[in-house]
Amino acid sequence: MDKSVHIIGSGFSALAASCYLAKQGYKVQVLEKNDTLGGRARQYKKDGFTFDLGPSWYWMPDVFESFFADFNKKPSDYYTLDKLSPGYEVYFGKNDSITISDRLEEIYELFEKEEKGSSKHLKSFLDSAKANYDTAIKDLVYKPGVSPLELVNSTTIARVSQFFSTIKQQVRKNIKNQKLIQILEFPVLFLGAKPSNTPAFYNFMNYADFGLGTWHPRGGMFKVIEGMVTLAKSLGVHFTVNANVEKILVDESKNVKGLIVNGEQIDTKLVLSGADYHHTETLLDSNLKQYSESYWSKKTFAPSSLLFYVGFDKKIKNASHHTLFFDSDFDAHAVEIYDDPKWPTNPLFYANFTSITDKTSAPEGKEAGFFLIPIAPGIEDTEALREEYFNKIIDRFEALTAQNIKDSVLFKRSFCVKDFEKEYNSYKGNAYGMANTLLQTAFLRPKIKSSKVNNLYFTGQLTVPGPGVPPALISGKIASDLIIKNHK
Ligand SMILES: Cc1cc2nc3c(=O)[nH]c(=O)nc-3n(C[C@H](O)[C@H](O)[C@H](O)COP(=O)(O)OP(=O)(O)OC[C@H]3O[C@@H](n4cnc5c(N)ncnc54)[C@H](O)[C@@H]3O)c2cc1C
Repeated sequence: MDKSVHIIGSGFSALAASCYLAKQGYKVQVLEKNDTLGGRARQYKKDGFTFDLGPSWYWMPDVFESFFADFNKKPSDYYTLDKLSPGYEVYFGKNDSITISDRLEEIYELFEKEEKGSSKHLKSFLDSAKANYDTAIKDLVYKPGVSPLELVNSTTIARVSQFFSTIKQQVRKNIKNQKLIQILEFPVLFLGAKPSNTPAFYNFMNYADFGLGTWHPRGGMFKVIEGMVTLAKSLGVHFTVNANVEKILVDESKNVKGLIVNGEQIDTKLVLSGADYHHTETLLDSNLKQYSESYWSKKTFAPSSLLFYVGFDKKIKNASHHTLFFDSDFDAHAVEIYDDPKWPTNPLFYANFTSITDKTSAPEGKEAGFFLIPIAPGIEDTEALREEYFNKIIDRFEALTAQNIKDSVLFKRSFCVKDFEKEYNSYKGNAYGMANTLLQTAFLRPKIKSSKVNNLYFTGQLTVPGPGVPPALISGKIASDLIIKNHK
């Protein structure tokens, strides 16, 4: 068989897959519709400021190490990692914030101070979280999701009950302090669903948080993309940007036969799509789609986001590199994301100021600010709404951190539902894919291999294992392993 493959998109999953396939001798061509590589992890530079457009939390460093180790490399061959200290800060009210240390002992002390006796519960919670993390990495997340049987062994069977209780139940069983509850429920938000809809097994994210820590690649997350592109090129991968794939061509025997790219036909017998799964299926004739519109509409998607990238003319006080604003009712906000989609009345939000720890991201004496409000996918997106919410969160930020920042805005750029749709062909403008709920885990997620078109494969945050950068790296490995197995 002709060992040549075309990959649609250049997000983390596509880049990972491109490296694995090139290493096995495939001729790999990556086709990216945008003018830069990296998918949602692109970079925005303006007037000496540098922003990551998408991901900013570098968690699970072992997954990155394991990726590079597969090529006899280390992350440090491509970028420098700093462990953030504190990992992050959470605001609960005016002048009322908690910083999360990068040292577990200090986190236990913090818990004890907030709720007497809670550090004991935290210890046993983290023991279970670590055991789940080890199981997830060893026995679950690297599986292709082809059959339920691939997940069954004595370790996973012992943990089955944790799929039928939720993070919310587990956290609240012993911890009663509202601030500590919010801190413990926060990590699963990366998985895209409410804590009440996320299996307790996913408490392994708490081990990722407190146990493994929060890291920052100096220069931003885009440094990881640059490192992966350098690696891919060294393995012989070819990249074409401004290459919009408009159609996947299939012959009478249901084999992939080509792609239409910017109006021109390219012949290819093997395609891996790292673009949004739903979008990829719209590139096929309708009888070749595996999943109907009604299938997608019933799925729980991760939120979309309203984002602002802001250059400030001064240093910001009373905030950390990563700062979460949990001073409003998360349950009410979650209802407005998942159950009754609408613009949130009083949203939680997140801000990062990478220039607090990383001098490369803003000119001296200035601050690079990134603000994110999670919102329901598919809701109305207008300039007026964006502006209204910018004012809402900046007013809140000013009140909570006791300073004026509005007058110091040099420039701001926003990004919301319409941009996610236009820039990434993202289903309903979701920001980070399909959530990891019980019924959207492992073999219950959209499949890596098309059941209707021969030689068409999928990777990325809508298939296994799920949303986030580490899962995207894993997804690229799973998809390429399957291709290598099926197309020797
Ligand atoms: C604002 C935001 C914050 C996030 N924060 C974090 C975080 O802090 N930590 C973390 O771990 N994760 C975070 N995530 C999630 C993480 O970024 C994603 O899960 C991951 O980057 C997704 O990678 P992917 O490979 O699935 O695809 P994507 O990054 O979505 O890449 C898909 C690519 O396909 C291209 N494409 C689409 N259609 C076509 C076409 N027809 N032809 C050619 N190319 C096409 C797109 O342009 C895009 O480049 C965040 C995401 C967002 C948006």
